[in-house]
Order: sequence, then C-alpha cells, then structure tokens
Amino acid sequence: MGLSKTIWAHPSEFLAHHDPEHPVLFFAPQVLQATARRFLDGFPGLVTYAVKSNPEPVVIENLAAAGIRGFDVASPTEIRMIARLVPEAAMHYNNPVRSRAEIAVGVEHGVASWSVDSASELDKLIALVPAAGTEIAVRFKLPVAGAAYNFGAKFGATVELAAVLLRRVADAGFVPALTFHPGTQCTEPEAWLAYIGAAAGIARDAGVRIARLNVGGGFPSHRLQGMMPALEAIFALIDRATGEAFGADRPALVCEPGRGLVADAFTLAARVKAVRDGAHVFLNDGVYGALAELPLIGGIDRIEVMGPEGIRRGPVTPRIVFGPTCDSVDRLPGEVMLPEGIAEGDFVLVHGLGAYSTATNTRFNGFGELAVETVMRLHA
Ligand SMILES: *Cc1c(COP(=O)(O)O)cnc(C)c1O
Repeated sequence: MGLSKTIWAHPSEFLAHHDPEHPVLFFAPQVLQATARRFLDGFPGLVTYAVKSNPEPVVIENLAAAGIRGFDVASPTEIRMIARLVPEAAMHYNNPVRSRAEIAVGVEHGVASWSVDSASELDKLIALVPAAGTEIAVRFKLPVAGAAYNFGAKFGATVELAAVLLRRVADAGFVPALTFHPGTQCTEPEAWLAYIGAAAGIARDAGVRIARLNVGGGFPSHRLQGMMPALEAIFALIDRATGEAFGADRPALVCEPGRGLVADAFTLAARVKAVRDGAHVFLNDGVYGALAELPLIGGIDRIEVMGPEGIRRGPVTPRIVFGPTCDSVDRLPGEVMLPEGIAEGDFVLVHGLGAYSTATNTRFNGFGELAVETVMRLHA
C-alpha cells in the first residue's frame, strides 16, 4: 500500500489527474479528527481506539493529534506500533486469549488493562502480569440483538462465570473492571442498556466495586443515506444507564470504537473494468479487497459514480456488481443502485469505507493493490 505525499482537494480532483488502474482509498484527516472530537467531547469517559479497524499509521497519528490517548490492541504487532507512534498512550489488551509469549510482550510494553473471559486465561494473567495498578476487565456476553454482526459468538463469559472471574481478579490484587462488546454497527442504543444493567448485576453478585466499565465499540458509522449515526443519543443513554444501574458505585466509563471513529474518514474509488453485455458491472475491487465487509454486515448506499464529465446525476437502476477475482462469491450483496449511464472506465466512489477495509484487504488472485491518497474533503 503506497501513500503519496500530495494532498488533493477531493477524490475527483485526484481521479481527473490520474488514471489509477488499482483501487484508491481517499483519506480525509479533517473528517477523522472531527469525529474524534465528537467522541472526546460527547462520550462520558475515556475514548480508546480499536486499532484493528484501521491500523494505518496516518490514522493513529491523526487520532493522537486530535487527543485520543487510549488504544485497544489485540496483538504484539499492534502493541509495538502504538508504543512507537503514541508512546504516552494507554494500551488496553482486549483479546481475551493470548499465548504466554504474547502476554510477555504486553507486560514489557506496560499494558494498562487486560480483558479476560475464562478461568484458564485468568490463571495465565495472574501468573505472568504484575498486579499492582494493573486492570483486568472481565468480558461478558448477553444474547442481545441489534448489531450487524454477533461478536458474542467467540468471546465473552456468561454473567455467572463473569461474577466468579471478577471476584478472583479483585482477590488477586488487580484493579477490577468489566467489559463487553455489543456487536458492530449497533444502530439500536438498547444494546448498551441491557449490557450496562447486567454489568451492575455481575458486580453485585461478585461483591466487587468495579473501577471501570468498558462499554466496547459498536458505535455506528454513516452507511445509509438517510441514517446519520446518532452518537450523542447513544452517549447520553450510556451515561444515564450507568448512573441508574450502579448508583453510588458508578464506575468510570471507557469506550473502544473502531468503525464509529474511522469509517466515515475514507472513501473508496473502484474502477469499472467492464459493463458486461450492458448488464453486470465488474469492478477492480470486491469482497476480497476493500469491500470485504459488505457481505458480512450489509451494503452501503452512499455511492457516487464519476464519469469523464464528472459525477453522473440522474436516474439510477439496480445492477449486479462483481469484484475482479474469479471466485463467484466475489459479488456485492443484492443489487446496487447505480446511474443508468455507468460505463467502462468510470469510478465508483463508495463513502464510509475507513473501517475493516485496508486491514482485511487480501492479494487473492493477484488483486488487492490499494493506494491511500490524502484529501481535504471527501465530496467535490
Ligand atoms: C473489534 C472490536 C472493537 C471495535 O468494534 P467496532 O464495531 O469497529 O467499533 C471494540 N472492542 C473489541 C473488543 C473488538 O473486538
């Protein structure tokens, strides 16, 4: 992935001057910093960034410049990168299953908080991590709907086990905390409500006053034209629910957004390779590339098409859209509404693609070359 040093006004300006054969992701640092400020101003606690959603160094640096001082990391590579780019930041190692060698890397780099969801992994942490001043957050799960993707399928203790683990964390001398991840692209604030109530119940059952409650990521980004993410409403609900559930034992709050922070700061330009026999559209990017997430969590309709005369306006029609590989699953979900005149050589601009795009892009079938270009803004 290459990063050019030139800053363009907007994607169309770059595309009019270049003829990129490979997909391009346009990054608007101003948009990222504005979103970061929205979280920092609005969230009633510590905002940490889930590095896995987009680990590009320019993203980390711009988040740090906007004032983000905490990072949710999941591997030694992420830990070393944050230690290098933002040495003063707090690292929260929130992958609840780690090898002993991975734990050693976290200890060496002063990880401030560790999550855990099982007795066997807690045994490892108690044996290998110095307790004094270090937080262990017990991760629990609930059967809750409302997210686009079920994170509880892999991680999270039941509420019963969580109470047992939380008691052990406190008895071992660690700073006790609870954490959950309600799913991703949670457009229903109620997902947080149920979890916050359950967290208070776990703390009561364990007889432990928790220092912090980490309410996870899952904050929505802007994927559908008419649906602006209601971040402030979610923040207000989390604040109120925590006060009501915990009363005098109210813990400090932490959140760890990935998508909600970074998605809207990037726009993808994929090129139309062919409109095969006037029907199906073939792009130079697809589900093995920057569009990997669409089949998992649903489409994005914030799409513009740029032809030789600029952005194509006028009537749209539904099209089947394929990616460039020879695999038949390399197709965007459903049908995509595209301007009637879409033609070979056009660029399809997909907005809101900053999360889970650069990081999960593959080189399958020899595709996947992806450039990142910096722009002042994402619309012409
Ligand atoms: C992936 C992940 C996040 C970020 O999720 P988003 O939906 O991108 O906000 C936060 N916390 C944990 C533990 C995760 O695994």
